[in-house]
Amino acid sequence: MSILSRPEFHDEQAAYDYVESKLWPAGPVCPKCGENERTTKMQGASTRIGTYKCRACRKKFTVKVGTIFESSHVAMNLWLQAIYLMCASKKGVSSNQLHRTLGVTLKTAWFMSHRIREAMRDDTLRNFGAGGGMVESDETYMGKTQGLGKGPHLSKKRKILALVDRDTKQVRSMVVDNVDVKTLMPIITENLAREAQLMTDQAQHYKKIGKAFSAHHTVNHGIKEYVNKEDPTIHSNTVENYFSVFKRGMKGVYQHCKKENLHRYLAEYDFRYNYRAKNEYTDAQRADVALLGVVGKRLTYQRAN
Ligand SMILES: [Zn+2]
Repeated sequence: MSILSRPEFHDEQAAYDYVESKLWPAGPVCPKCGENERTTKMQGASTRIGTYKCRACRKKFTVKVGTIFESSHVAMNLWLQAIYLMCASKKGVSSNQLHRTLGVTLKTAWFMSHRIREAMRDDTLRNFGAGGGMVESDETYMGKTQGLGKGPHLSKKRKILALVDRDTKQVRSMVVDNVDVKTLMPIITENLAREAQLMTDQAQHYKKIGKAFSAHHTVNHGIKEYVNKEDPTIHSNTVENYFSVFKRGMKGVYQHCKKENLHRYLAEYDFRYNYRAKNEYTDAQRADVALLGVVGKRLTYQRAN
């Protein structure tokens, strides 16, 4: 059976049932007072799908309260379709594609995709390299160079830092203001265990940053050394591969990314990378993880209009 035939993609009640089963594994929880015993599902023709009444505080609620779905009029089954599509496609799905596939307006598709990126966002600090594992760190630049070649204009481009834990196969990337010791040192030390072995290229700023960890190994990209000949574990190819997937996706799918949204796209690519097939997640399981992330993200989302 095609996964797209599943009832929660087509029927709104089935979609609510599905979301409730994931967000309320122990039954409905009142968002106002936390009651989860004395709640009643409201029935009747004029009742909105998914409405419950709390018999403790008398308030009505649905599973949408406090999630990215709140105050959206998009049918829940369309939300589940959008989440699935964004989770299943390695390079992402443009708002234009969502607009055409889901039959919602372009504006609605744009809001949905940014909210889903919020659901995918994970800002928790990491402990990469715990137990002495290898962590690759690297930066990349995005934006037009206009044929200037290498030089001071790099400072005008958007800068991205990515850290990859080779043992857990997890990435964490972020937009950074500058590529220097002052900016990168606190970010890297916050997300890496002290016993980590840091793998980088020979960029100047890593000389100092590398001293914060149990070991620091480098490859010299300047002389086209990408893997150390004596010790082939010394390289930064994993993080560079992450950047290449991100850049190809951004070029192909998201041509018009504004600076203030770049971190949201990074969250999306980090999410798919961290829950990729190689880490033993199916598309459906990845979509379920994203669904768990819808909670508590609503307040951090700034409406653009
Ligand atoms: Zn209540």
